[in-house]
Amino acid sequence: MDLHTGRTLWSESDIASTSYPRLDRDVQSDVVVVGGGIGGAIAAWEIAERGLDVVVLERHRVGMGSTRGNTGLLQYANDMPLVEMIRVHGRARAVAFYRRCWEGLGRLREIVKQLPEDVEFADRMSVCYASVPAHISRLKDEARTLAQHGFAAELVVGRDELRRAFGIDREAAFVTYGDAEVNPLKFTRALLAEIVRRGGAQVFERTAVVRAEENDAHVAVETDAGFRVRARAAVFATGYVFQNTRPLAGARLGCTYAIATEPLSDLAAWPVGALIWETARPYLYMRTTRDRRLVVGGLDLPVPDGPRRDEGLNVRAEQLARMAQEVLPDIGSLSIAYRWASTFGSTVDGWPIVGVYPGFRRIFCALGYGGNGMVCYAVAADMLARRLVGKNRPEDEGLGPERWSLWRRAARRLSRAVRL
Ligand SMILES: Cc1cc2nc3c(=O)[nH]c(=O)nc-3n(C[C@H](O)[C@H](O)[C@H](O)COP(=O)(O)OP(=O)(O)OC[C@H]3O[C@@H](n4cnc5c(N)ncnc54)[C@H](O)[C@@H]3O)c2cc1C
Repeated sequence: MDLHTGRTLWSESDIASTSYPRLDRDVQSDVVVVGGGIGGAIAAWEIAERGLDVVVLERHRVGMGSTRGNTGLLQYANDMPLVEMIRVHGRARAVAFYRRCWEGLGRLREIVKQLPEDVEFADRMSVCYASVPAHISRLKDEARTLAQHGFAAELVVGRDELRRAFGIDREAAFVTYGDAEVNPLKFTRALLAEIVRRGGAQVFERTAVVRAEENDAHVAVETDAGFRVRARAAVFATGYVFQNTRPLAGARLGCTYAIATEPLSDLAAWPVGALIWETARPYLYMRTTRDRRLVVGGLDLPVPDGPRRDEGLNVRAEQLARMAQEVLPDIGSLSIAYRWASTFGSTVDGWPIVGVYPGFRRIFCALGYGGNGMVCYAVAADMLARRLVGKNRPEDEGLGPERWSLWRRAARRLSRAVRL
């Protein structure tokens, strides 16, 4: 699968840093993590924090999969709004999931503080505007529901008011707090470098896993060069390519587009410290970077890769720039410096896929499918790391791939209810 086309923002500045050797012998560890993207890096960090030895195996270069296309927004809110998630999962489970994402983001903030390297992390609020006037009631409903469950959400209603407060030319928005932004590639590389420096992990690049098997006591993964890593457990954090070899029924792949502009002369017209997104699906989203670029993403299509995705890149990049200017009319002219289209994965029920792979006991998957994948990875990593040291909690159940059969039963029940 070709994960990207075009030129992503992060790859150029960050790839020159540390490289890791190829695996050229058999090794043993407590846990083997397959995949050196942000998902694998956070999992390896949390597992190493519990005192377990970790080996990370990356097929190409660390962070150069989907992670280099990631736009770096850290939001606790999911692509599926809380109101909808309550309809799908029930109030208790939906609210508990939002709370876990909130805590996951808090955990990422703590981890960043332990990194010697600057990963361009900054605390942000999020502004979610009503894409069209017909969405205002939906927006109010979401803000009310968030607030009711303890997530501060403030409504701003009225075009003049919103323009004055945030420069946004729409009728209404709500503001939430506690989000952040990061450079995802630097973050990934810094996480792995730090656990290697602390002696908690070994990382191998250009090392593809081609086979995994388990017995009662161990799992063994075999690489393309014929070497084996023997461990007590394996975590597959292989991102969207997981769907190529072991397609999961509730996951789907499409693609998404993003641009980064040339640095703006100033950001006076940008709402200070805000990430911006909207109620429409697929949604437009925007952030700034430390060097005063605008990053704009959206315009998702239901094709993961191939000519339809790639040939649309220039047209869609220009469209993203126009859409940003239309929402923020005072921002001035935008000149596109980077444009890219990337494979993107999501799940039908809005939750990531974290848990034991069906049919195995020692092989786990951590797949943060969805727009707030990095925060989901924080939730996943904490959950798997606890499980590996025998500290499961009841709420850890329910995110694994086995839920799709339950989901299908629930969907059948829901559709029966609608027909009635
Ligand atoms: C354009 C775009 C923007 C996004 N923006 C955001 C955002 O702002 N915020 C957010 O939270 N999420 C975002 N996401 C979603 C998602 O969280 C990110 O894409 C995330 O970086 C994916 O990380 P990953 O570790 O799952 O995948 P990857 O970065 O692809 O890492 C998986 C790694 O596994 C390796 N691998 C695969 N198979 C094997 C094998 N057999 N052996 C060894 N290694 C293997 C791959 O080479 C790869 O490096 C975005 C996604 C896209 C596409």
